[in-house]
Amino acid sequence: MIRARGVRKSFGSAIVLDGIDLDVESGEVVSILGSSGSGKSTLIRCMNGLEKLDAGSITIDDFDVSRPKDLAEARKRSATVFQLFNLYPHMTAVQNITLAPIQVLKRSRAEAEAAARTLLDSVGLGARADAYPAQLSGGQRQRVGICRALAMNPRYLLLDEITSALDPEMTAEVLNILAQLAKNGTTMVFVTHEIEFARTISSRIVFLDKGQLVVDLPTEEFFAADGGMARPRISQFLSKMR
Ligand code: ATP
Ligand code: MG
Repeated sequence: MIRARGVRKSFGSAIVLDGIDLDVESGEVVSILGSSGSGKSTLIRCMNGLEKLDAGSITIDDFDVSRPKDLAEARKRSATVFQLFNLYPHMTAVQNITLAPIQVLKRSRAEAEAAARTLLDSVGLGARADAYPAQLSGGQRQRVGICRALAMNPRYLLLDEITSALDPEMTAEVLNILAQLAKNGTTMVFVTHEIEFARTISSRIVFLDKGQLVVDLPTEEFFAADGGMARPRISQFLSKMR
């Protein structure tokens, strides 16, 4: 599981994460919602050790991301996909996907390539395996980005607004892939502005407001009249998003 306890993070005088406690168990899909600037990306960056915590702890399967000797193990277990597809432009889809399995997991090139092609097939990109990023649409690039994360066989997938740079059609392509992964039991922490989609795939919804985790509820309760909607801050947020 991913376990955050008392996580605090400031940039200068701005408190961005103000004591976050969060547990994500294996097999769960947890969506993180909240207004722009509420700290969602910072929390994801803390989870994969890209930001140093000011206080508190985050462990992934008991490996503490703040401890240098644990970080490599923590990172082996989780993979992150970001908003902007940061694929290497001089490498094909297959080369982008196989880089880390070959270098980090020490897979043979043949084995890594076969796995990459299977992954690309599974997201409908089998025929584009040898294309360069510039030859792919945004939605296709983001699907390659997801394959690259999955190629590391992560237990946990951290997804930070991976559809926000895409048009609706490309968004649908990518969300379909995530729905499939959720069905197959992949554990996901999903930062999104796609409220309705979050509603369909999440087991839980977490709501951040000004760096504080103000709601952590099963999805139905979050959207139910007696749960989230009755809370003014959430209903205000949801009405703005729809
Ligand atoms: P959005 O929905 O717009 O992506 P977010 O919830 O992901 O927002 P964060 O990116 O976590 O928000 O940012 C939270 C706050 O921290 C913002 O006020 C942002 O300006 C600030 N911030 C984030 N990273 C840094 C940084 N490296 N240096 C200074 N301030 C930062
Ligand atoms: Mg963000």
